[in-house]
Amino acid sequence: MTATISAAARSYDAAPDELADRVILITGAGDGIGRAAAVACASRGATVILLGRTQAKLEAVYDEIVASGGPRPAISVLDLARAQGPDYFQIAEQITETWGRLDGLLHNAGILGQRAPIEHYDIGIWHQVMHLNLNVPFILTQVLMPVLRKSVDASVVFTSSGVGRQGRAFWGAYAVSKFGVEGLSQTLADELKAEARIRVNCINPGGTRTRMRAAAYPGEDPLSRPEPASLMGPYLWLLGPASRGVTGLSLDCQ
Ligand code: NDP
Repeated sequence: MTATISAAARSYDAAPDELADRVILITGAGDGIGRAAAVACASRGATVILLGRTQAKLEAVYDEIVASGGPRPAISVLDLARAQGPDYFQIAEQITETWGRLDGLLHNAGILGQRAPIEHYDIGIWHQVMHLNLNVPFILTQVLMPVLRKSVDASVVFTSSGVGRQGRAFWGAYAVSKFGVEGLSQTLADELKAEARIRVNCINPGGTRTRMRAAAYPGEDPLSRPEPASLMGPYLWLLGPASRGVTGLSLDCQ
C-alpha cells in the first residue's frame, strides 16, 4: 500500500490555494530540500515559519516567497545543535501568540556527519549527528504538541533516508539516526492514531541535488540527481489537507 501511495504522491500537484490558512514550520528552511519545501508550501498559500541557523539564507527564502506573492513568512533563527529548553519553548509561545495553532511541522534539518566504519567512527561526531537528526525532532515535536493539537488537521512529517531502512557500510550515525527517525515516526503515529487531528508520517526524498548529497558523493555529477523543487509532490500532499487521515507511513519521493 505504501508503494502505491508513494507513487501517487510523487505526481501530486496541489492547487494554488490548497494550503491557504495553514501554518507550517520547516526546519532547515534556508537551503536544499527545506528551502524548496518552504517555497512550494508558500506558493500554495501556506504561511511558513522558516527555521534555520543562517539568517541570510532564511532572509533570501523570505524575499523569494514575498516577491512571488506568497503569504509573508516568519523567520526563526536557531542553531538546533545548540538549542536549549527555553529556545524550544520560545518557538511554541511565539506560534501560540501569533497564530494560535500549528498545522504542519516538517523536520527537515539534518547533517551527514562522517563517512567512516563504525569501528573508527568519531564518538563526538556520532553524538552531534544523533542529536541533530534524531533528538531535535523528538524535542521539537514534544514541545509543539500543544499547538499542533490546536489545529483541526495537523501533519507532522519526519525526514528519513534510504539508509534509514537498510543499513549501509560507512554511513554510521547518519544511517542509525534515520532508523531512529523512522521509529520515532511510527511510535508517535501509533500513539496518536485515535486522534484524527494529528497525523504523523516519514518522507524519504531520495538522492537529491543538494549540498549534503555533494558532500556524500563528491565524485558524482550533481546534474545526475533531481533538483529539490522537482520532488515536492509528496511534501505538499503530506503537509496539506489531501492526506488527512493518513498516518504511520514512510513515503519515497523517488
Ligand atoms: P542540506 O545540507 O542541503 O540542507 C540542510 C539544511 O539543514 C540547511 O538549511 C541547514 O542550514 C540546516 N541545518 C543544518 N544544521 C542545522 C542546525 N544545527 N540548526 C538549524 N539548521 C540546520 O541538506 P538536504 O537538503 O540535502 O537534506 C534535507 C533533509 O533531507 C535532511 O534531513 C537529509 O538527511 C534528508 N535527505 C537528503 C537526501 C539528499 O540526497 N539530499 C537524501 C535522503 C535524505 P544551513 O544551510 O544554514 O547550514
